[in-house]
Amino acid sequence: MRSHEDWIQEAAKATLHTRPFIGGRFAETGDAAFENRNPATGVLLGEVADAGAAGVDAAVRVARSTYDSGVWSRAGVAFRRARMLRFADLLAEHAAELAVLDSLDMGKRVVDAFDLDLPFSVDLFRYYAEAIDKINDEVAPTPPGTLGLIRRVPLGVVAAVIPWNYPVDMLAWKVAPAMAVGNSVVLKPAEQSPSSALRIAELAVEAGIPEGVLNVVPGLGETTGKALGLHPDVDVLAFTGSTEVGRYFLQYAGQSNLKQVWLECGGKSPHLVFADAVDLATTAKQTAFGIWFNQGAVCSAHSRVLVERSVHEEFVDLVAGEAAAYAPGDPLDPAAGMGAIVSPEQTDRVMAFVDVARTSGARLVTGGERLARDGSDCYVQPTVFDDVDPTSPLAREEVFGPVLAITPFDTEEQAVALANDSAYGLAASVATSNLGRAHRLTEEIHAGTITVNGVDAFSAWTPFGGFKGSGFGRDLSLHALDKYVGLKTVWINH
Ligand code: NAD
Repeated sequence: MRSHEDWIQEAAKATLHTRPFIGGRFAETGDAAFENRNPATGVLLGEVADAGAAGVDAAVRVARSTYDSGVWSRAGVAFRRARMLRFADLLAEHAAELAVLDSLDMGKRVVDAFDLDLPFSVDLFRYYAEAIDKINDEVAPTPPGTLGLIRRVPLGVVAAVIPWNYPVDMLAWKVAPAMAVGNSVVLKPAEQSPSSALRIAELAVEAGIPEGVLNVVPGLGETTGKALGLHPDVDVLAFTGSTEVGRYFLQYAGQSNLKQVWLECGGKSPHLVFADAVDLATTAKQTAFGIWFNQGAVCSAHSRVLVERSVHEEFVDLVAGEAAAYAPGDPLDPAAGMGAIVSPEQTDRVMAFVDVARTSGARLVTGGERLARDGSDCYVQPTVFDDVDPTSPLAREEVFGPVLAITPFDTEEQAVALANDSAYGLAASVATSNLGRAHRLTEEIHAGTITVNGVDAFSAWTPFGGFKGSGFGRDLSLHALDKYVGLKTVWINH
């Protein structure tokens, strides 16, 4: 296991690319530049090109011509599988380097990136590489003399726009299935976390994936992201980010070429804790993980806990007792409980929720302070508010920070009503030892993923995505492939 000192040395070696990666090389294109700062220290990491409309256009043109050439889109599946498996191996070989890039860019604990994010992404590339030669197309039951084929064909140029909370994983969730079925991809990483994506694009070429299949355009949302959304030659726009920005992409598609849009957006996921939970202490640990892991910057973070009144006080104490294990520290230090919040702006936003909650009748149980260290004040204590009014902002809006809202309930019906009373529907969890109740609640709660006796379960093999304001379409699993292929029906008569 690497020590704090080892990770500091790894960080000192890191090369942070700043230019768009188009057609297999770093390009000079880019309208302007923006600062990339390490939120843990405030140190300037680099001036990154904002690809802008010109950079996006250059990348889309290359992606299109690569697609049309057939070098990847019409390559045999054995070829694509082998190259993607080699790519996954290279990601694994460079896991420490990539983990450090994400930690420097957006403040997450480097060990979480290394132990969890990178292995998940590597496995995901392997999963889709291995899937593509095991899925057959269909033959329809047409009358004699007629052959009806249902073929899955790549759609062409896929643009992926992703957030900063899991830079490598969010890339893998989009790029691996899109690339596996033969598309060319133009990826825009979040402005807060461009470095790993630029390095990964370089590794793709090293793995033998043809130049132009994976292009990366760093940039700001309102310039580069918008240009991708409006580009007339992008066939599919796969987005992960806030619900607010998801709405823009639907508009961009309407204003341009009706490109297909898939949205993985925000959440305000509830964790329903019943008095008959198998073990309250274990449930409290799961609650703590569900809100404080990754500084709370998890789309499916279980940021609302609804707890049955008879165990309410005991449960609140148990959760508060877990806070010490999540005390923020240097993200490069394996002993830190949490890392830094991604930026001063996001820290301000998190603290604005805390300030409103303090004055709106909720009871601050633990935390609630912004902390300064190592030249940065982008650190927030693990925070719990109890007796949170279900109509208040803390109970309804996505904080995307380490702030938990607890609300007691009296009956199962009330708990379900509170759980479903949300603009979002991404995930939910239920703690109960009552099988009938567990079964009932999985039917009654409106969320894309429901976990019983755990929090926020997901895997490569199961679909992930939401209902309502959390978006539509699914990442992960074989279902994700549906977003990146079109169905072509072929009739052959004799
Ligand atoms: P964001 O919506 O601000 O940004 C996401 C991406 O969109 C970034 O690349 C950004 O540059 C771009 N963008 C911003 N404004 C744009 C505009 N006007 N036009 C075009 N592009 C624009 O989100 P964020 O702060 O990076 O990430 C946090 C959000 O992501 C949270 O809401 C979180 O729930 C969500 N998220 C969802 C999932 C999921 O799978 N459902 C996973 C991770 C994160």
